[in-house]
Amino acid sequence: MEFEFFRYPEKFAYKVTEPKPCSICGREELCFDAGGYSGINDIDCICTSCLKAGALIDLEIEPNMNFDDGSEAAETITYKTPALPTWQDIGWPMVDGQFPVFECIASAEDFLDKNDFLNSFLEEDQTKEEIEWLWDRLPQKKLNHYNEGGDISVYLFSLNGKKYWIWDAN
Ligand SMILES: [Zn+2]
Repeated sequence: MEFEFFRYPEKFAYKVTEPKPCSICGREELCFDAGGYSGINDIDCICTSCLKAGALIDLEIEPNMNFDDGSEAAETITYKTPALPTWQDIGWPMVDGQFPVFECIASAEDFLDKNDFLNSFLEEDQTKEEIEWLWDRLPQKKLNHYNEGGDISVYLFSLNGKKYWIWDAN
């Protein structure tokens, strides 16, 4: 896996539409679009190796928010991982003190059935009962790109072989 916490960057990370020079090293590739990354400094885009190497740490640019517990994992997610393709500013979830891996924007095919779907909801501010309706709004087919999703997105994560998801809407 290219990124420890982001399974399919080529499908679900925001990238520039055609090869562009990385704002940091100048290497031309299909860089990550950094336009939406928050922080003190602004850059257009960043290549995979600069992102992985932590080039954003000194620039204080943070692709992701999380509960910063001072761990290496928290730093990796904040600075060295492509941004989650969310509509709103959402922090990277935490499960029992650990950060799960972002797998994909989910479809019904990512779950065995509605029960499996409901049981893997990461209850934070909402209960399973409150989000039951989301099952009927899931895309039926597995998504191959973030732009195939609709205005409601379910973000699927995994940790120790278990599924977890959170959601938001446009
Ligand atoms: Zn670069």
